[in-house]
Amino acid sequence: MSEKDNLSESQDMIEEMAEGLYAPCDSGIRFPTGWATLQIDMALMSKEDREKVYQAERLLQEAGITFDTGSGSGYRDWELDWSLTGAFLKIRPFYCMGCHGAQSISRPYWAIYRNSEGHCVSYVYCSQKCRQKDVQTKLDEYSWQLIFGAREMRAWGAGQ
Ligand SMILES: [Zn+2]
Repeated sequence: MSEKDNLSESQDMIEEMAEGLYAPCDSGIRFPTGWATLQIDMALMSKEDREKVYQAERLLQEAGITFDTGSGSGYRDWELDWSLTGAFLKIRPFYCMGCHGAQSISRPYWAIYRNSEGHCVSYVYCSQKCRQKDVQTKLDEYSWQLIFGAREMRAWGAGQ
């Protein structure tokens, strides 16, 4: 068999495999690492912003990305579970957001801040000590407000 025949034979095989593997699924065949519900608190939004959420759903649908949706208790839920098509959900484990970087966490220590844009953000740490140190930095250097976590230090941030 010539080298050319060999090449076309392996190309045929690749085409056949690609068709078999990818044709039935628009996001390709991959195994999810978990499922999730994205909860959007519509009660805190203006009417215009709520409309943007629905518009985002419509735009994703037009792009071939669909999932179950639901509404209740003021939330708009995006069910990123078995109903998700056209995209893939990757669940990642928690890592310490303090000085330990890539260290995975067995018991989470949370801190919730109000950042400089006024948004509430959640940070997770590997220990109380790690949290305390980072809380200090966030309050002193970033002027964020502490809403939850490291209560023993400063419960409500500076000036409260
Ligand atoms: Zn840490």
